[in-house]
Amino acid sequence: MSRILIKGARVIDPGSKLDAKRDILIKERRIARIEKSVTDRKARVVNARDLIVVPGLIDLHCHLRDPGRPDEETIGTGSHAAVAGGFTAICCMPNTDPVIDNDGIVNYIYKEAARVGLCDVFPIGSITKGRGGRELTEFGELLEAGAKGFSDDGDTVADNNIFRHALEYSRVFDVPIFEHPIDKNLAQDGLMNEGLVSTRLGLKGSPAIAEELIVARDLLLAKFTGARLHLCHISTEGAVELIRKAKREGIRVTCETCPHYFYFNDEVLESFDANYKVNPPIRSEADRQAIIEGLKDGTIDCIATDHAPHCQAEKELEFANAPYGMIGFETAVSLIIMELINKQNMSWLDVIRKMTVNPAKLIGVMTANMTQGTVANITMIGPDKKWKVSEDNIKSRSKNTPLLGKELKGRVKHVVIKGTIKYALKD
Ligand SMILES: [Zn+2]
Repeated sequence: MSRILIKGARVIDPGSKLDAKRDILIKERRIARIEKSVTDRKARVVNARDLIVVPGLIDLHCHLRDPGRPDEETIGTGSHAAVAGGFTAICCMPNTDPVIDNDGIVNYIYKEAARVGLCDVFPIGSITKGRGGRELTEFGELLEAGAKGFSDDGDTVADNNIFRHALEYSRVFDVPIFEHPIDKNLAQDGLMNEGLVSTRLGLKGSPAIAEELIVARDLLLAKFTGARLHLCHISTEGAVELIRKAKREGIRVTCETCPHYFYFNDEVLESFDANYKVNPPIRSEADRQAIIEGLKDGTIDCIATDHAPHCQAEKELEFANAPYGMIGFETAVSLIIMELINKQNMSWLDVIRKMTVNPAKLIGVMTANMTQGTVANITMIGPDKKWKVSEDNIKSRSKNTPLLGKELKGRVKHVVIKGTIKYALKD
């Protein structure tokens, strides 16, 4: 088994609150030593003097389109893209075809991810059969097969009684319910955030209240049932405020936001680039500021990508008919560095916690630590590395990102998974 020696890195390990220069020796899949100075003549040396070294990132929310749409993404292409973005574990949402609503599909995902042999792929099972919103799936059977939580993502569980029963059922197993909180009737298939900009552009808007109404309902039901609620892709000021209050009250709620909600505001829609069309929509500047505040004060626990691949032909449809979603694995780290670290002065420890220990705790997988003896899942980031996003350097099978052609700062350089270098950036 080969040895790897990472030399001179700035190690950020939120689990042990470490932010210091360290050498790391990896031996037999594990971190054998993490000290100020380590030498090992037999090890392959990675010079990490200018790099930030963090535990392997975990993405709580992505869409791999597998099974169902291999023309958009597969577990193979998605895993490659995830690893290039620094993720060593990802959770895939169940809005596949067929839906992840039985143990057969969960088994298929594990088998396929093992065959690909890159990152861990953890399936999220659907709450209701076929994501139909009517009949609960067999949580026990899905968990036994390895599902890490439940969600009808893409849709809210609209029926209050069904959602109540889903929460109660989840308590039996103490697993989180991942909710996509958007009231369909209020959202009215809006194309962008409802506000001044949508009025100016003459595009139908989806109002913040569509998100906030369901967040409020979900929090009440979480309080009532005592279940673990995880709110996906939070995007509005009002939602952040509701969650902040609920946490103070002791309700068992966690939430995530995505890079596009703290990096962009709705003025970007002036370009009519359908790659900016996401659900929930990119919101106003006030909402963006509130999301940043929520990240800073800990109201928002996790940063997830909501990586949502779509084929070019579909994104090239008229704006009104283009599907919602943008890819996100490979640009997440850059947007986080440019906005949260460089502009907002958030600490590396605070940011990386939201992509490692917090999501790990939520889905109950290995704690994402970098201490002696832990399995070596490690991401090395060049924080000042400039790069231009292009169709050629994106590994995802789909290229639907509004960042094509843009120059970004900060890029993943190496990724170690279970003690093996699985990715090294070719410059
Ligand atoms: Zn969603």
